[in-house]
Amino acid sequence: MVSPVAKNLKITLLAGGVGGAKAAEGLAASQYASVTTIIGNIADDDEFHGLWVSPDIDTLIYSLGDQIDREQGWGRKNETHQVLNELNALGENTWMTLGDLDLATHIYRTSQKAKGVTASEITTTLAKRHGVTLPILLPTNDVVQTRVKTLAGWLSFQEFFVREHCKPDVLDIEYKGAADSVATPEALEQIAKSDIVLIAPSNPIVSIGAILAVPEIQQAIEKSNAYVIAVSPLIGGKTIKGPADKMLESAGKSIDSKGVYQCYEHFLNALVIDDLDQSDAAWLEGQGADVLVTPTLMKTVEEKSNLLSKVVHFALTQRAKGEKK
Ligand code: GDP
Ligand code: CA
Repeated sequence: MVSPVAKNLKITLLAGGVGGAKAAEGLAASQYASVTTIIGNIADDDEFHGLWVSPDIDTLIYSLGDQIDREQGWGRKNETHQVLNELNALGENTWMTLGDLDLATHIYRTSQKAKGVTASEITTTLAKRHGVTLPILLPTNDVVQTRVKTLAGWLSFQEFFVREHCKPDVLDIEYKGAADSVATPEALEQIAKSDIVLIAPSNPIVSIGAILAVPEIQQAIEKSNAYVIAVSPLIGGKTIKGPADKMLESAGKSIDSKGVYQCYEHFLNALVIDDLDQSDAAWLEGQGADVLVTPTLMKTVEEKSNLLSKVVHFALTQRAKGEKK
């Protein structure tokens, strides 16, 4: 299936953390590496011990730089926690696990921010330090933060995700700061010139939804001529990890491929679903979507690159068919 890649082909990957990083690694290991640019999620960002932490962006950088703790799917490999233990002894809240090597990233990000360097520029420097060759763009340089409404009130995303282990029922989600946020020109330009916008199997509400919450980003995708294809993060109607299921439910969507499709229906051309969800294909096709049914569980780098190659190949084929019509 390895075919030569047209040099002017342009692929944009919208990516959250763990699911996003798997897709990014798949593209990085495929024949499409040189034509792929990533737009990451910044709405899980928060401040801890005075430091600005950007978990999804760091997961992308550490994964692509092969510095990730592969067991966890986040954080640095060979990590130690001396600083956090000391902060704990000082009476600080240390439920957000930040390792010693990881803290260097947060110290650097925070000090650069204080000097007026944009989040985008800081991301580029961090990516370069870890040898990441795929460009990582941010949807906005403004602060946008996902908040989760529970019976106990509004929580920051990390309070819900890490401190409360995603246990509370989700009543509502908001993207604080999104409505007034300004998209980065580079993300808008990248989307406008893309042939394919590929949505990673990330949480549709809090990872991809938070990127799309930057109004100009969603508008750019709706306006672009790109073929938009998403990989479902559900396998057999279940998430592999994380709260995508309860978040789909809180958004009034069903917890299956149909619910994922509905998150993107205004601009989606195709949905990639797992073999286990094959029974959803007819409904999706009835909505006018192209459907690729294939195994979507990615553990090894081969599985990542095989799936992503297949997804891009499918998008290119369907797109060419559409042009002929
Ligand atoms: P987070 O920011 O770390 O929570 O990660 P993302 O939002 O990028 O991705 C979380 C989603 O990835 C979850 O809903 C998982 O079900 C999904 N996911 C993780 N691994 C895989 C995989 O190998 N295949 C598929 N299809 N989905 C996956
Ligand atoms: Ca995340």
